[in-house]
Formats: sequence, C-alpha cells, structure tokens
Amino acid sequence: MPVSVQGFRWRWFVLAFALGTTAFVCRLAINEVIDFRTIFLLMIPSVLIAALSGFISAAFTTIIAAAASVWLQQQDGLDLTEWVNSFIFLAIGFGVACSAHVQHRTRAKADAAMRELAVRETHLRSIFDTAPDALVVVDAGGLIRSFSSSAERLFGWRLTDVLGRDFTALLFSPQQTSSDLLSDRGTKTLTLTGQRKNETTFPMEASVGVMRIEGRPSYTISIRDMSERLNSEARLQDMRAELSHISRMTALGEMASALAHELNQPLTAIANYLNGARRLAIGLGGESSAKISDAIGKASDQALRAGAILRRVRDFVTRGEIEIQAVDLAEVINEAVSLVTATCEGQRIDIRHDISAGAEVVLADHIQIEQVLINLIRNAMEAMEGQLRQNIRISTTRTRDGLIMVSVLDSGPGIPPQVASRLFQPFITTKSDGLGIGLSISQTIIKAHGGNIWATEPVGGGAAVHFTLRPAREMAYAG
Ligand code: ADP
Repeated sequence: MPVSVQGFRWRWFVLAFALGTTAFVCRLAINEVIDFRTIFLLMIPSVLIAALSGFISAAFTTIIAAAASVWLQQQDGLDLTEWVNSFIFLAIGFGVACSAHVQHRTRAKADAAMRELAVRETHLRSIFDTAPDALVVVDAGGLIRSFSSSAERLFGWRLTDVLGRDFTALLFSPQQTSSDLLSDRGTKTLTLTGQRKNETTFPMEASVGVMRIEGRPSYTISIRDMSERLNSEARLQDMRAELSHISRMTALGEMASALAHELNQPLTAIANYLNGARRLAIGLGGESSAKISDAIGKASDQALRAGAILRRVRDFVTRGEIEIQAVDLAEVINEAVSLVTATCEGQRIDIRHDISAGAEVVLADHIQIEQVLINLIRNAMEAMEGQLRQNIRISTTRTRDGLIMVSVLDSGPGIPPQVASRLFQPFITTKSDGLGIGLSISQTIIKAHGGNIWATEPVGGGAAVHFTLRPAREMAYAG
C-alpha cells in the first residue's frame, strides 16, 4: 500500500520528537558529568532527522529542544553564555529547518518534473506505438534506437532483435548506406524496397525527419507499406482497360445494329430480284435453265439467311434476346461446315463430325450457335493455312453434369501462347487482318445460353475449343 506524503512526514516528525526526548533523558542522566553547552550537541541529530520531513518538524524539534534545555538549566540560573548558546542553537536549528524547506521544495519540483516526464514518455510511446505508419528512430550513425509496434508488425522483427542494428538491415539488398539515406536538411521522402524477417519484400515509402538532441542529429523514419496502394492502382488500371473495352464493344454493337438495319433492305431487295430471275430462268426452259434456277434459288436462300443473321444480331445487340428452341446439332454443324467450306474451294480440308448418343439435341438459338461454330471452324482453318495435313474434328458429348459439350479440334500449330490467357477478350488477335472479336462474340452468345466456352491443347497437338449447351431432353442419356 503506498504511504502518503503526509503520513511519511509525520513518521519522521514523531521519530524526531522521540529522539529529542531520548537525548534529553540521556542528558538528564549524565547531567552532572557534562556541561550545559553539550546539551545542544545531543539535540542536533534529532533536529537533523526532523529536517528530513520538512521545515515545521525541524523548527518544532528545535524549539522543544531549546525550551527543554533552558528549563533544565534555569534551575541553576542561566548566565549570558548559556543564553547566547541557546540563541545560537535556535539559529542553527532554524537554519537547518529553512535549508530542509528549500531542499524539500526542490525535491518536490524534481519529483513533479519526473512525473510529468513519465506521463509524457507514456503519451509519446502510445503515439509511437499506435501510429498507423511504422516508426523507426535511428541515431546519427544510422543505428536503430527505437522501433514502434507497427514497425514490429510490418517487418516481423521484435524491438530487441533490431536495437543497435543498422537501419539498412530492414531494406532489400540495400544499394545505399544509412548516411546516404539520412539527411540533415528537413524532411525527405524515399521510395525503397523493404525486407521482412521472413525475407519477403515489399515497396515502401520512408519519410525521414531530423531532430537534434544536444547538438547531435537523430532521425525519425516513418515507413508506409505501399503494396496495397500499388495493388489498388493496378486494379484501377485494369478496370479502366476493361471499361475502355466495354465502351469499344458498345460502339461495335451499335455499329452492328446500325449495319443490320441498313443492310436488311438491300438484302430483301436482292432476294426479291433473285426470285424474279429464278422465275425467268425457269421460263427459259432447257437443261441449263434448271441449273441456273437452282443456283439462283440457292443465292436467294443465302440472301434471306444473311437477312435473318443480321436481324438476330440486331436483336441480340439491342435487347440481348435469343430465340431458344430444340436444335438438332448434326443439322447446325452440317450447315456451318457447308457455309464455311463454300468460301474456300480448292483447300484440302478434312472435316469430320461425331455426334454421341444422347448429345444430339440442345436448347439453343439455331442461328447464333451456327455463328459460333462458323467462327470456330474458320479460326481452325485459318490456323492450318498452308499445312499439308488439315484436319478438323467436331464432336458432341454429354458431360458429367448433364450438359452437352461441343468441341472443335484442329491439327494446326495450337493457340499462340501470347494470347492464350486472353483468348476470349475482345480485340485480341494475332492475325494482321484480324479483328479479334470472333471468340469474344462467341463467348457472349454461349454465356447468354447459360453455357461456357474454353480452349485446350489436345495431347496430339493442335488446338481445341469447347462449349457447353443445355440438352433439350434431360433424360435421354443415362450413362
Ligand atoms: P480473329 O480471328 O479476328 O483474330 P478471334 O477472337 O476469333 O479473332 O481469335 C483470336 C485469336 O485466337 C486469333 O488471332 C488466334 O491467334 C487465336 N486462335 C483462335 N482459334 C485458334 C485456333 N484454332 N488455332 C490457333 N489459334 C487460334
């Protein structure tokens, strides 16, 4: 239990009084042996002890001692010397009391200053430890003198591990010495690479402030971990890039929609003219007229088909609409293959397809899925251009989760590694005349169907692109 100042003083006071009394009693006992002057000598220790508790107790003890001595001597009658001695004792006693008082005040002031210092130190330590940035104090030689709790958390070192070590021990393969980093002029900010105890590194910003203690400089280094900020900046950069892609895609969508609108009329007119021409060709009669009318009929069908594609594209771009129905995959694949190969006569491409049982009919928009297949087959053909062996395999299978997977495999050189991770992003192409939107549009279409699209590298080489669709008949396939 702490002893109060007042209690402490009283104890000294009582002790002084007891000593004074004891000295007085001793003096009485040897009254006959010693003379009057020595009585004061015996009293001085009690005055000095009383002085330890302050002015009042010293003064009180002096008065009591002087009074008792005078009372003792007055029985024999006091002469002038004894009176003078008594006054000298009183003066010395009061002198001691005054000096005790001064000493007491000085000590009280020093105690208050020490307490104030302790409070400030605690305050500063709490600021030092709770500051969000890591704080390190180093001396003029660059040696660490203080290390905040946040610095301990940031670097993984304890204060005791780094105390007295060079500041550069906290940096990753430091190129500079501490004296290069520490400047005597104002605050300076440095971008450095920090190294944690576990040897991982991180970008950091260090602000170095200088202070002078008894003429010698000392530095406070405030360290901020920049990883989070740099990551956010990178994320922001990615988002900006994505946004720019989206805006380009939107512009492209709007352009496609406008083109679809503009081309629809001439295509209808072409189909009408072709129908007229076909009727005229039939009217001519003869063997060649049948061939001509058949060719014109096919041309008219394609013009109508082109119109339908444009209409669907427009609906898809403007409203994101798709026309879902049960679609026979063999039929779509055949159509897509004949449409692509019609434009590349003379090329020796071997295209085969293999429709597994239970993977024949899907729920899809016929024209859009055909468009996806056309994109994939065309990409495969372009990749194999100039090769001796040009094989394309199109297959359909049921996946474990009940979806139907359509795969287009080719014997080309495979997906170029530089685009592999961004294959389905718009405007990614390795072709000098490519737009880089075929796979991106294919992905949009497949996602709108609730499916997925991805590319793989088949074991025997080449490239494979797969996409999934929902089956029209859930039950049809048991295994
Ligand atoms: P584009 O055909 O206009 O380049 P795509 O989005 O269809 O745009 O294709 C993007 C890129 O993907 C192509 O430039 C090509 O590098 C690569 N790619 C796509 N399919 C294949 C394939 N079967 N074999 C090799 N590379 C391919």
